[in-house]
Amino acid sequence: VAKARGSGQVEVFDEDASHRSRDRLDLRAELLLARSRGQLHLAYQPIFALDSRAIVAFEALLRWTHPHHGTVPPDVFIPLAEETGAIVEIGQWVLAQACRQLAQWHRLPEGRGLGMSVNLSPVQLHQPQAAERTLDVIRAAGLHPADIWLEITEHSYLRHEVTEYAGALGAAGVHLVLDDFGTAYSNLSYLKRLPIEILKIDKSFVSGVTGPGGGHLDLSIVRAILAIADSLGLVAIAEGIETEDQRAALRALGCRLGQGYLLSRPLPAAQAGLLLRPQSQMPARAHRVG
Ligand code: C2E
Ligand code: MG
Ligand code: MG
Ligand code: MG
Repeated sequence: VAKARGSGQVEVFDEDASHRSRDRLDLRAELLLARSRGQLHLAYQPIFALDSRAIVAFEALLRWTHPHHGTVPPDVFIPLAEETGAIVEIGQWVLAQACRQLAQWHRLPEGRGLGMSVNLSPVQLHQPQAAERTLDVIRAAGLHPADIWLEITEHSYLRHEVTEYAGALGAAGVHLVLDDFGTAYSNLSYLKRLPIEILKIDKSFVSGVTGPGGGHLDLSIVRAILAIADSLGLVAIAEGIETEDQRAALRALGCRLGQGYLLSRPLPAAQAGLLLRPQSQMPARAHRVG
């Protein structure tokens, strides 16, 4: 419906855009309260060894269940949380929650050696004392820093704080992951400046490794990323594996770790825990990363 403005003008165009921006403002405000209202929770997606199908870690993925809009995807609400700064508090909560969950799984015999990977927003890294606060949360859960993998996708230029944060955490034993590797948001200079140990091959390349036509290009890119990882002594994880052919192709290329809907979707904690039961995987969790 066109709206009459005070000037007598009738605003007929851009109605969708103004709806969208009003929705965004509402969401921004509601997001500030979402955590205290118990609307946030984590889903856990396993990271598998592609050969043995053993689970080596879980990635914690944030979920927001909005009372009217239902599940709001993180690609929508994380940028809003970054704009308001709410991501700092939310990010601390995500880390604490993921650490508590991992500590619980570590108490099971089949959870021993399991890692937990947590996504970080660049905004979190720019906070004073960010590294100390991160390590405090990990230790408060009774974990060792080496149990935790932190995923970074920098959207902006590399700031001094980021280098410091990554340096301090790397020195403490935390495993640093460069997420979405190969996309605009992560590039080779990070590998030079930060103590990265793990590269996540973006799903946009993984989805093409077996496809017809364009498949050739993605295959070459994945092969090149694996060669970079290999020559720098890094571990590669393929993300977004959806078919058995993709898994087989990645294995044949020498990629050791992977995650994706083929292997498991992100799951609520209780269901994720069931995957750890001995009958649902090969006996040995052969390796920890790093
Ligand atoms: P990401 O870290 O690259 O996470 C991978 C995304 O791919 C997840 O989407 C996951 O559910 C999805 N995915 C996994 N396997 C497959 C597959 O086989 N096919 C396809 N098509 N998708 C797959 P999700 O959970 O919607 O998260 C989107 C992004 O939001 C994440 O990308 C991450 O950048 C961000 N995010 C999620 N949780 C957090 C968080 O706690 N903090 C921060 N700062 N960012 C987060
Ligand atoms: Mg990630
Ligand atoms: Mg990713
Ligand atoms: Mg992503």
